[in-house]
Amino acid sequence: MAVNSAGYRRVVLKLSGESFSHAGERGISMDTVVHIAEQTAQAAQQGVQIAIVIGGGNILRGAQFASASARIQEATSHYMGMLATVINGLALQDALESVGCSTRLSTAIRMDGVAEPYIRRRAARHLEKGRIVILACGTGSPFVTTDTAAAQRALELDADILLKATRVDGVYSDDPEKNPHAVLYSELSYQSVREQNLRVMDPTAIAQCMEHDMPILVFNFRKVGNIVRAVNGEKVGTLIRSKVAEPR
Ligand code: UDP
Repeated sequence: MAVNSAGYRRVVLKLSGESFSHAGERGISMDTVVHIAEQTAQAAQQGVQIAIVIGGGNILRGAQFASASARIQEATSHYMGMLATVINGLALQDALESVGCSTRLSTAIRMDGVAEPYIRRRAARHLEKGRIVILACGTGSPFVTTDTAAAQRALELDADILLKATRVDGVYSDDPEKNPHAVLYSELSYQSVREQNLRVMDPTAIAQCMEHDMPILVFNFRKVGNIVRAVNGEKVGTLIRSKVAEPR
């Protein structure tokens, strides 16, 4: 079984919907998607199995309809958000295949004719065969986000690490765009993330990872080569785990 220098055999990569559009824009910018696909393809060439949990925030987030005046039930809007992840999943699938990757798109809500249903053992088998598996529709249930789905899938697919791709370099003590003194952490414990209320992933996702000791790497996917570095276990971004060697 292939294992890289970091000892990673299998990783779950969480890509937010916003990674599919230009900063400040919505929708899908295919040049951006192909750019991510190229980097993911390079990472897959290292022999590591990659499952991607895809978000939908570039199209729709359920919370945006959460007010009573929206005339749409909140649960409905979350299902709409989950469908948005399928649109992104289809775009990512074609982008990955255009750069030579073998892929499968699987959805937590059945969508025969568009993608295969998510079945844990089947997804694991695809990964073993070297296919990149794109996981859409989150958990299939409303009122949570695809961060929670990423934690859930990382655990059930027995991944070695959850890689959370973001637009910033990692986890900071404060918002780096507002506070010039904000410090970038290289390592953090789950406990510190929770105590300091750091915005990393949603609290359910952090709690799940903490409970099962699933390490999380928060890193900047926009820096060329970072997806490969993250998959290779190189020092990039902020590593969140139970045992932290240094305070920072
Ligand atoms: N969503 C949901 N259940 C899930 C995953 C997602 O209801 O298991 C809905 C939720 O409304 C969410 C939307 O789908 O806002 C899009 O996902 P998310 O906000 O996580 O996308 P991202 O921020 O990663 O682009």
